[in-house]
Amino acid sequence: MFGYYYGIDWTYIVFVVPCILLALWAQHNVNATFTKYSSVYSRRHISGAQAADMVLRQNGIHNVRIEEISGRLTDHFEPGANVIRLSSSVYHSTSVASIGVACHEAGHAVQYAKGYAPMKLRAAIIPLTNAGSALSFPLLLAGLILNFQGLVLSGIALFGLSTVFQLVTLPVEINASRRALTAIEAGGLLYDDEYPLAKKTLTAAALTYVAALAVSLGQLLRLLFLFGGRRDD
Ligand SMILES: [Zn+2]
Repeated sequence: MFGYYYGIDWTYIVFVVPCILLALWAQHNVNATFTKYSSVYSRRHISGAQAADMVLRQNGIHNVRIEEISGRLTDHFEPGANVIRLSSSVYHSTSVASIGVACHEAGHAVQYAKGYAPMKLRAAIIPLTNAGSALSFPLLLAGLILNFQGLVLSGIALFGLSTVFQLVTLPVEINASRRALTAIEAGGLLYDDEYPLAKKTLTAAALTYVAALAVSLGQLLRLLFLFGGRRDD
């Protein structure tokens, strides 16, 4: 039971461990890439904050504030407050990495302003996802104890909501980077030889979201494999 064999949970090793290794690699890769291109400074001397502002203006958006926050890679856009928060190093730095990250966050602000559907969907399912992750394991466990397969499957389905959330996050993130790169090119924010470096930074960031989806999917498949096919006695 539970896939244990000689004390080793091989379902965890088969379904989850490879995805966790991928996630660790992706996290290391984004840190290394960001650090590497943080020391390559744009020859136009545009800071991250200025670059984000240019992306907004290019898209005719004038009601989004750009603020500075502490931390490393804490950059984000907050839809409700309509504010882009850039970490100090991104806000002030003229590096190609900072410009890439800043324009990506501005890309989220553009998505919000233009009512980009996957972003709306993502926001709409956040409460469901939170409820799902709080209830999934209690339901699963109750189903196993009571030997009631309906409860077990409900628990797995609720866990699946977080996988759906990761799945919907992916197009939102990739689209924000695409908007950023389009704006960088159209606005001439970077020279031709600097552009690929900003793109590499954003690709490395996107891979962390692919890895997060893989981890969630691996966990879901493991649950389905272990408990999905059981029948009530
Ligand atoms: Zn993003």
